[in-house]
Amino acid sequence: AKAWILRKHFDGFPKDSDFELKEEQLPEPKDGEILFEAVFLSVDPYMRPFSRVRMQEGDVMIGTQVAKVLQSKNPAFPVGAHVVSRSGWRTHTVSDGSGVQLLLSDWPNDVPLSLALGAIGMPGLTALYGLEEVCQLKTGETLLVNAAAGAVGTVAGQIAKLKGCRVIGSAGSEAKVAYLKELGFDEAFNYKTAPSLEQALKEAAPEGYDCFFENVGGAYSSVAIPLMKPFGRIAVCGAISTYNDTTPQTGPFPHLTMIVNQIRMEGFMVGRWEHKNQESQRRLLAWRQEGKLKCPEHVTNGFENMPAAFMGMLRGENLGKAIVKA
Ligand code: NDP
Repeated sequence: AKAWILRKHFDGFPKDSDFELKEEQLPEPKDGEILFEAVFLSVDPYMRPFSRVRMQEGDVMIGTQVAKVLQSKNPAFPVGAHVVSRSGWRTHTVSDGSGVQLLLSDWPNDVPLSLALGAIGMPGLTALYGLEEVCQLKTGETLLVNAAAGAVGTVAGQIAKLKGCRVIGSAGSEAKVAYLKELGFDEAFNYKTAPSLEQALKEAAPEGYDCFFENVGGAYSSVAIPLMKPFGRIAVCGAISTYNDTTPQTGPFPHLTMIVNQIRMEGFMVGRWEHKNQESQRRLLAWRQEGKLKCPEHVTNGFENMPAAFMGMLRGENLGKAIVKA
């Protein structure tokens, strides 16, 4: 068995030397325990900020995987079953089943298991809850999504189109912008090459934005918030532009326009609606099966490439969900 260790806390952008690949000797599963093997592993932005608060140097990197049960002394997890587990960056795990969930029993055979880490898993649920619970997006409204070509953004934009909204997305390359248009986004632009972010946002929606699905934070946020319509709603999902900062970014803080336009801005964590996850995953699956939800993935092969996949995702190399195939 192998595991990736956080050798050194990240200082700025992560580097190869912050990670270390270690051999692990696993015990035989005892009564009530199972042994499973990773099939797909997820690399996600949260691993960067959470590494500081949830991990110490020498810990196995946090993360979720889809795995196959190889040995079982727990009848809830039969041999051959697939599970979604928060076991971190490990090839093999012996577990008593805590933090381990069986894949939905009615997971269709023709749906890749990796989607349980993406559009039909945590990022897809994040998109759904951010729009429905936090933004309370309504038909006919105009939505802005940034980091729009990523795991959460692609799903958020497509759900908003299914709800009959006008959707504007920004992303960091021409290929991503072209893909967003293929997905049905009404307007999409490259935030890296736009002469001015403010101008691009204004041109895409001269009337302003009812809702903003915020994945980026920092300077982007300061520009976008004043372009919200009165009573606009902002779902603060992520702030990826700040995760590698060594010194905090400062203003301008658009408080005055928030007051005058009576904007509601709410941070959220996907786990708040965990009780709805099975029902919500079935809704996402149904959209996927009806051809209404495309689920792009950026797959890196080989467990040994986990750090490269993680750093590549932070740099924006992924279109859709960044996944590692073990
Ligand atoms: P993505 O698949 O979107 O991958 C990250 C993307 O962020 C990159 O592809 C890159 O795309 C973009 N990015 C990187 N640096 C910057 C930057 N400086 N400015 C603008 N964009 C940048 O990741 P996810 O979909 O998994 O996550 C998206 C956001 O949602 C993150 O902020 C994440 O932390 C948050 N999140 C929050 C959850 C919650 O419960 N609140 C749950 C899941 C995710 P590009 O080429 O466009 O720059």
